[in-house]
Amino acid sequence: MNTNVTGPRVLLRRLREVMAESLGAQERLNTIVQHIASNMVAEVCSVYVLRADEVLELYATQGLNPKSVHVSSLRIGQGLVGTIAATARSLNLADAQKHPAFAYLPETGEEVFNAFLGVPILRAGRALGVLVVQNQDHRTYRDDEVEALETTAMVLAELIATGELEGLAPKGTTLDLSRPLQMSGVSLSDGLGLGKVVLHEPRVVVTNLFNENDAQEIERLREALNKLRVSIDTLFQSGEVAREGEHREVLEAYRMFANDRGWNRRMEEAIRNGLTAEAAVEKVQSDNRARMLRQPDPYLRDRLNDFDDLANRLLRELVGKPHGEAAEGLDGDRVIVARTMGAAELLDYNSPGLRGLVLEEAGPTSHVVIVARALGIPVVAQVPGFVSNAERGNEIVVDGDDGTVTLRPQPDVQSAYFEKSRFREGQQKQYEQLRNKPAVSLDGVEIDMLMNAGLLMDMPQLEQSGAVGIGLFRTELQFMISATLPRPGEQEELYKCVVDAAGEKPVTFRTLDVGGDKVLPYMQMAHEENPALGWRAIRLSLDRPGLLRSQIRALLKACAGGQLRLMLPLVTEVWEVEQVRDLIKREVELQTRFGHEMPRSLELGAMLEVPSLLWQLDELMKAVDFVSVGSNDLFQLAMACDRGNANLANRFSPLSKVYLRLLRQIVEKANEHQTPLTLCGEIAGRPLSAMALLGIGYRSISMNPAALGPVKAMLTSLNLGELEKALLPALDELEGDTDIPALLTDFADKHNIPY
Ligand code: PEP
Ligand code: MG
Repeated sequence: MNTNVTGPRVLLRRLREVMAESLGAQERLNTIVQHIASNMVAEVCSVYVLRADEVLELYATQGLNPKSVHVSSLRIGQGLVGTIAATARSLNLADAQKHPAFAYLPETGEEVFNAFLGVPILRAGRALGVLVVQNQDHRTYRDDEVEALETTAMVLAELIATGELEGLAPKGTTLDLSRPLQMSGVSLSDGLGLGKVVLHEPRVVVTNLFNENDAQEIERLREALNKLRVSIDTLFQSGEVAREGEHREVLEAYRMFANDRGWNRRMEEAIRNGLTAEAAVEKVQSDNRARMLRQPDPYLRDRLNDFDDLANRLLRELVGKPHGEAAEGLDGDRVIVARTMGAAELLDYNSPGLRGLVLEEAGPTSHVVIVARALGIPVVAQVPGFVSNAERGNEIVVDGDDGTVTLRPQPDVQSAYFEKSRFREGQQKQYEQLRNKPAVSLDGVEIDMLMNAGLLMDMPQLEQSGAVGIGLFRTELQFMISATLPRPGEQEELYKCVVDAAGEKPVTFRTLDVGGDKVLPYMQMAHEENPALGWRAIRLSLDRPGLLRSQIRALLKACAGGQLRLMLPLVTEVWEVEQVRDLIKREVELQTRFGHEMPRSLELGAMLEVPSLLWQLDELMKAVDFVSVGSNDLFQLAMACDRGNANLANRFSPLSKVYLRLLRQIVEKANEHQTPLTLCGEIAGRPLSAMALLGIGYRSISMNPAALGPVKAMLTSLNLGELEKALLPALDELEGDTDIPALLTDFADKHNIPY
């Protein structure tokens, strides 16, 4: 066997020539195995390619029986070759036949060979096939030979990934790389999105594998590594850490990896074996991925993402491609696939072709998810490992109704989804027809249907959804997607645009509701044991009067000459409202003195989210101009049930007797005092729970714009008097245990009410 260190270099040079020649796929593969065998002085060199049915098929050989090509095959995990593919790990054996996994394939005539070296053909850590050399004598291959064969396997990975071998697959089979894949996650935004994958962090595709000059490539690598280290240090120092979602811990890990000598050494070794700097980064990264994916320790597996990010950054340094080109060159419908992503980054992709979002990590209250909902695109999250399976341009379906993502769907699956999407579009059209119809029940009860909003881009929905106004404008969203605290002028400008866009329709602005799970990247917040019960919303605003005053000032100016409706989140005691009223009064006096025009009318409301207000309902109803029930927080606080805890998600129902009774008490008090009342939590946006709200007396509800259609369809099929007759006695009963959700679904079914 050739022990010459220049061996792999010569081989790579040969392979480069072979790749450039115009050959058929089989011929190219045959020539490659011949070159490898001769360069490594091996009697056998074979390539096995993994098919979608998890079978490794012999695609080319030098030294085994040529008739076994496209005939011999092993299942993944079977024999030595199957073991290598299953573990993504090389096997180096002096006497292959003694290995417990050895499986004899008589048609190949391999019984005379003893020494065996097999390496996985890896791409992004996934085995796409196996490359094997064999010799008759009993020997163990040296480390540099293993390294050389692994490097050579990269050329084959490229050949497989470009799809060149696809045509060689026997009829009815496809290669693993085009295998359909369905994964289940958590739906964070409803809807169905079909399109092509855009990787938010695009993998840099290394096309130039072979180097001309080791020293030059090593220099390039060192320069890039230096730049990478500097850029990480800069990130550390800048205030952008949080904006990019890169928490300090992750950056610490980056910094550690970037200075890791082993990583550095292995990349330089790969360059000395003939690879370019970028191919060396890719090779070492692929090895790392394969190794880390085998780790049982979840902490170490998590670090894989950090390593991946770092290698990607390094590749970008080398090829000089900054972020932001992810979607370039992909026309038509697109689905963004990312590990994590900031809200502002999603806005950069916003265009008519944006159809969905898949995130490996995100929770329902992640800012990016709030923005995606506002954009009306489906989101599926918590699908670990999805990014590494997706290739740019792959077909993908995001089903935000059942929380699944399907990659490279088979044609029949794709057309089934296509049908589903057409059906949804049809439904949407029906809802559009309802848009200008009055929101009145079958028995003539009129309901105020309002929408929730938070960004300027929500405003066109006001017209499209047919909502009669904005019942909740979440002002914190502007604060959450900004890199720095929005200046008063910026706040005023946004509010002015919102009021202008709303025209005659009323807008209810909510003062800043931050703290708890709504974090501002630029605001230092102390760690809290119970953030939901902590320093948040109106509590924080009252303790930071400067912040509150500048927001109120911006709102007063934006609504000059018109109407300002303002409400306060998380009020616990009535005096909090009084304090804000005083503050507003002083601000109005001051601004008037400066000659600024003030709103013609000003109404101040409170959100009813904290159960303590239930024992101050009389005082509250008198102290405010209106009340809006924040049923999300009210439910969480009244039932002691964390809104984001998946283990509790189905334990208690907002349609239970206890919660509906509580909500009904509020209506009764509001009616008694004639205080206008709205409800703006999530339950207003689901037809069945909205129906329950109407049944207990709510006449004004505010919801996601996308929910207006389905809720109006429910309302216009509902006889409210009949519902009250069925529901109210059940809520009043002291004995018996009527299942209220079941009562509601039965009622809807019996009366053909869509829900
Ligand atoms: C609520 O709590 O119901 C509400 C509308 O406010 P948010 O969801 O923004 O906390
Ligand atoms: Mg709330």
